[in-house]
Amino acid sequence: MERNNLQFQTGQFIMLKNLNSSAKREYSVYSGEKDDYLEVLVREIEGGKVSGRLKKLKPGTEIEVEGPFGFFKFNPEKFASQKFLFVATGTGISPFHSFIRTFTKLDYQLVHGVRKKEEAYEHADYEMENIKLCLSGDETGDFYGRVTDYLFTQKIDRETNCFLCGNSEMIYEAFDILTGKGIPVSNIYSEVYF
Ligand SMILES: Cc1cc2nc3c(=O)[nH]c(=O)nc-3n(C[C@H](O)[C@H](O)[C@H](O)COP(=O)(O)OP(=O)(O)OC[C@H]3O[C@@H](n4cnc5c(N)ncnc54)[C@H](O)[C@@H]3O)c2cc1C
Repeated sequence: MERNNLQFQTGQFIMLKNLNSSAKREYSVYSGEKDDYLEVLVREIEGGKVSGRLKKLKPGTEIEVEGPFGFFKFNPEKFASQKFLFVATGTGISPFHSFIRTFTKLDYQLVHGVRKKEEAYEHADYEMENIKLCLSGDETGDFYGRVTDYLFTQKIDRETNCFLCGNSEMIYEAFDILTGKGIPVSNIYSEVYF
C-alpha cells in the first residue's frame, strides 16, 4: 500500500477495512520503519469476512487504514542482552520481518512453523543460518514437527529476549517451554493473533 506518511514502530499493527463493508481486522506491519511503502502479510482464511476480500482487491482500490496500534514494539537498544529469539506460526512471522528489515544487524534466531513449505513466506529475506523452518506436514523443512517441539530440543541462554507471535495455543505452549528452560517471564513478549 501507499504509506501516506503513516508513522509506526516496528511490531505494531494496523486495522484494515474495505470501504464497502464495516468489518475491519488487525494486521501486523510487515514492512520496515524506513520503507516508503506499507506492507502486510495476509493469509486467506476460508469463510473469513475480511482476509478473502483483501485478497481480491485490485491495484488502485482504496481501503481504510487505522492505526498504528499495539505494544509489541521492538527497539533493540532497550535490551541489555542483544540475543533475540523470534518464534512464529504462519503469518505471525510478519512483525519479525519488520524487525529484521528495520534493524539489519540483529543477532537473532527465527523459528517459523507452518504446515507446508509453500506457506513459508519469503524466507530468502532472512540470513539462512538465522532461520529454522519447522514443518508439521512433511519432512522437507529444517525440522519435522511444530515450533514447540523444536524449542523443546534447544538449549536457550537465560538472557535471550524471546518474542512469540501467532496462534494462542503455540504461545501458551512456548511460554511454558521457555520458562521451564529458565528464561525469566520478563524476557518473554507475545502477540496473539487468534
Ligand atoms: C494484533 C493482531 C495482528 C494480526 N496480524 C495478522 C497478520 O499480520 N496477518 C494475518 O493474516 N492475520 C493477522 N491477524 C489475524 C487477522 O486480524 C484476522 O483475524 C484474520 O485475517 C481473519 O480475519 P477474517 O475476517 O478473514 O476471518 P473471520 O471472519 O474474523 O474469522 C474466521 C475464523 O478464523 C480464525 N482465524 C483468524 N486468523 C486465523 C489464522 N491466521 N489462521 C487460522 N484461523 C484464523 C478466527 O479465530 C475465526 O474463528 C492478526 C490479529 C491480531 C489480533
